Amino acid sequence: PSIVEVKDMDFAYGSKTALHGINLEVERKRVTALIGPSGCGKSTLLRCINRMNDRVTGARIAKGEVRVKGKNIHDADVDLTQLRKQVGMVFQKSNPFPKTIYENVAYGLRVHGEKDGEVIHEAVERALTQAALWDELKDRLQAHALGLSGGQQQRLCIARAIATQPDVLLMDEPCSALDPIATLKIEELIHQLARDYTVIIVTHNMQQAVRVSDYTAFLHLGKLIEFGETERMFDRP
Ligand code: ADP
Ligand code: ADP
Repeated sequence: PSIVEVKDMDFAYGSKTALHGINLEVERKRVTALIGPSGCGKSTLLRCINRMNDRVTGARIAKGEVRVKGKNIHDADVDLTQLRKQVGMVFQKSNPFPKTIYENVAYGLRVHGEKDGEVIHEAVERALTQAALWDELKDRLQAHALGLSGGQQQRLCIARAIATQPDVLLMDEPCSALDPIATLKIEELIHQLARDYTVIIVTHNMQQAVRVSDYTAFLHLGKLIEFGETERMFDRP
């Protein structure tokens, strides 16, 4: 079964409906790209999958549902801290905490009450390895995260998001603040991440969607107007 299912969902900011009748099924351990023009609802849809929209006054799912591993994430018994562990997120503007490299990656484990230093260290090493940073940074884990380059900071934010081994990793325009070389590194990394994680990425860049994704959902004016395998969608006569 699909790991994320959005069923006949309408989403509104106050009286303004931003998403209409969205149906989306996301395959496990694949990369799904959400593309479409600015303002079409990509970020809103992404933020429906970890309830980040809850922070916005008046924002609500007006109809339908979102399921992660079969569980309706808007059920009353859903614990938001647990949900954010299960569904990690990386933003456009990489924003490591003003702490050491180590503490940035360890953050999620500490939030979830992990006290065992060895468990934390193993998780930090695994996450930095999966984010292609371990070799670069292993000798300066106690250095300040904000001293890193923009590309390294973004990969650190990826490491921070995957340290708790989420089922799903959401990425909102993860490369749009980066130079072409750093972008290429993140795109390569996304392919590798899909071995272990289910990735959903918002991008305004169709070429990027073609390069990184297995499936593409195309949104327009708050509606999902096309969905399918990326290769087929872009490889038409
Ligand atoms: P995209 O990510 O495709 O650029 P968004 O999801 O950011 O689109 O926005 C979809 C629509 O919802 C736009 O019309 C936008 O102005 C509106 N919107 C986004 N965030 C908010 C918000 N916090 N409050 C009100 N309207 C919003
Ligand atoms: P992005 O392209 O990353 O979605 P935006 O520039 O669309 O960024 O939005 C930046 C912030 O402003 C977001 O937090 C978004 O939710 C909010 N926002 C966007 N459109 C509106 C709107 N029409 N009214 C209020 N807040 C909005």
